[in-house]
Amino acid sequence: MAAQQPAPGVEAEGEWRAAIDHAAGCRDCLTPGTGCDTGEALLDTYRQALREHGRAAP
Ligand SMILES: [Zn+2]
Repeated sequence: MAAQQPAPGVEAEGEWRAAIDHAAGCRDCLTPGTGCDTGEALLDTYRQALREHGRAAP
């Protein structure tokens, strides 16, 4: 895997992984239109991590 051009959000990979790992096993996250406080909190943490690394939120 070439490392010359990091994928977007690679700086927050841990936070992103936590969010998708939760979503993968969460019925609320997998149901469109259903809110999930935990999933949203994990995504907020991910976005915050991106901001701390100087990247715009997706
Ligand atoms: Zn969830």
